[in-house]
Amino acid sequence: MKSAVFMGKHRMEIQERPMPEVKSNEVLLKVIGCGVCGTDAHIYEGEIKDAVPPVVIGHEIFGEVQDLGQEATGVEVGDRVVLDPFVFCNHCDFCKVGEFRFCLNERFIGYHRTGGFTQYTTVPFTNLYRVPKTMTLKQGILCEPLSTVIAAYSRLQPEAGKSFLILGEGALGLIWNQVIRNSLAVTVIQTGIIPERLTKVEKLGADRIVNPLEENLEKAVYDLCPHGVDYIVDCTGSTKAITAALPLIKRGGTFLSFGVCPEHERLSLSLYWLYRKQIKIMSSRRPPKEFQRSVDFMVKGFIDADLIVTGVFPLNEIEQAFERFSTDRATQIKMAIDPWL
Ligand SMILES: [Zn+2]
Ligand SMILES: [Zn+2]
Repeated sequence: MKSAVFMGKHRMEIQERPMPEVKSNEVLLKVIGCGVCGTDAHIYEGEIKDAVPPVVIGHEIFGEVQDLGQEATGVEVGDRVVLDPFVFCNHCDFCKVGEFRFCLNERFIGYHRTGGFTQYTTVPFTNLYRVPKTMTLKQGILCEPLSTVIAAYSRLQPEAGKSFLILGEGALGLIWNQVIRNSLAVTVIQTGIIPERLTKVEKLGADRIVNPLEENLEKAVYDLCPHGVDYIVDCTGSTKAITAALPLIKRGGTFLSFGVCPEHERLSLSLYWLYRKQIKIMSSRRPPKEFQRSVDFMVKGFIDADLIVTGVFPLNEIEQAFERFSTDRATQIKMAIDPWL
């Protein structure tokens, strides 16, 4: 079988590898598609220490069950499935009290373990979720990023009838748009700096779309929401974008940090302002047990996958896909690898 193997910074190698052996708690998957995530791009840039080469990366996996280990239950050969990439130990102090998202021994499928940029892969059966046969490759690979949004939304617990400012128009910003507009938000304002992507936000719909490089965000927000917005959801990971937007939050409002900021960046914040306005600041790193809802949401047709997934590449063009991920941001939003092309 063919696999794309991460060999170190800016080096992916297509290798012929033997079929993996299926352990008793595992399932053999034929990979139908695997999404290219920002995390994969960071691994390709050599920025993630946990990804030790040689390793097959990719965690947004959509596949078909080919074989089952002895203990594997809940799925059958021929089932189509998506994968929750987090593996929890079940025995650390946090897992013991059900706080799996704080697991001290967390493993990640896609760098600690073999991932999805390959034709076949083995995964723990506990991490699989069955999907209908009608699910398309583009829908399948978006279930994992969608689950991170559903998880954050569940933590945010927004009230009905509120106003939102979504920062960013990447794949996750576009998913957030669809999740929020399917809730009972009364006002949705979304920002972005890439015109081609902003036309996608326009297609999905928002009360106001703002390119802060071209117009005044503050004026745009206060025109619609004179006291500011109830919720700001950051999908940029840009401290600059957050710094500009944060003052636009309403008294008592909530800021959700969702996009991943570079580790060494700092946000300068007046605690007096925080005190006066009684702002809540939250973060969300994907907790488990949100995956089924993500699948249900996708099956229901709430997410326009064709609008978000802009390119499907064969395995042997994976390096080009990674290059385009950072250089071709106008036309490429979410990319997927189809290892059978
Ligand atoms: Zn991802
Ligand atoms: Zn644990």
